[in-house]
Amino acid sequence: MLQIENLYKKYDTVLALDGLNMSIRKGELYGFVGPNGAGKTTTIRIVSGLLQPTRGNVWIDGICGNRDTKILKSKIGYVPDFFGVYDNLTVKEYLEFYASSYGIYGKEGTKRAREVLDRVELFQMEERFVDELSRGMQQRLCLARALIHRPQLLVMDEPASGLDPGARRIFKNVLKNLCQEGYTVLISSHILSELSDMCTNVGIINQGKMILQGEMEDIMYSIDSANPILITIYQNMEKALELLKNHPLVTRISIDKNTISILFSGSKAEEAMLMKELVEADILITSFVREHNSLESVFFRLIEPEKGGEKNVSIESGTGK
Ligand code: ATP
Repeated sequence: MLQIENLYKKYDTVLALDGLNMSIRKGELYGFVGPNGAGKTTTIRIVSGLLQPTRGNVWIDGICGNRDTKILKSKIGYVPDFFGVYDNLTVKEYLEFYASSYGIYGKEGTKRAREVLDRVELFQMEERFVDELSRGMQQRLCLARALIHRPQLLVMDEPASGLDPGARRIFKNVLKNLCQEGYTVLISSHILSELSDMCTNVGIINQGKMILQGEMEDIMYSIDSANPILITIYQNMEKALELLKNHPLVTRISIDKNTISILFSGSKAEEAMLMKELVEADILITSFVREHNSLESVFFRLIEPEKGGEKNVSIESGTGK
């Protein structure tokens, strides 16, 4: 759906994008995260046809968009981080006004206004004045506005900032539903927790470069797989330690009361086999869990590796406390 290849953007002396690559497929809810100044807004403005890159290409549905920004503007709905609303218009008039800027007038404009209000859960608000709406509702109105010309890709720059938890929850639901209907959504934020529970995919940008991207689940698993597995033993501790010490994929063991912590270099299937081996050896276990990292910790480890600290991979098999 959206392909960004080797994108560069230089503002005078500042290199904002430094060979950025990005790939988004239809139906994905793609979280674009990075610290302040990483290049998110610059990328989003280029994708939306509002800014020309210094070098590189943006492809949308196989068409190179940055040579013809009209294509980008027709296929993309852009939701800026800062939005203005006109306080002397009703919600319906406001959307009809935006429809007219795309050449959609009269009954078709009203139909489109109702269609998008329904999508953003504001249907009952069509006769209200826009300045009477809460901030969360105004944000969804801005989303409705971006949908009025039936784009395929929604591009949103930090849209959830400043929303209270209730408004954020509705906003997330609206986005999830849009993706289920076949829309593709690119959403940026520097607050990772805003995105981690809603996005299907994530791309992490730092200093104008994509440093990690992929499906949220795969990224979390690949990061978690370096974490210890914690096994809580109910009975047969000695036997468990013996089995683990001789296991070829266990590289470190430490014990805390009745919990054994191991570093295990196997796949998910091998992890499941290890649990089976323990049970078949009559070792009673009450839990077997891989420690999880939050997306937040992954992010900080990636953008500040010197602060994240290297994992200790030395072998200390059989060490007691
Ligand atoms: P934030 O989360 O703070 O909005 P961002 O990830 O969106 O940051 P950008 O706004 O794209 O980052 O900025 C990337 C870099 O380009 C920064 O160093 C910024 O100072 C610089 N920059 C952005 N716009 C301009 C401009 N118009 N002129 C000069 N430098 C700019």
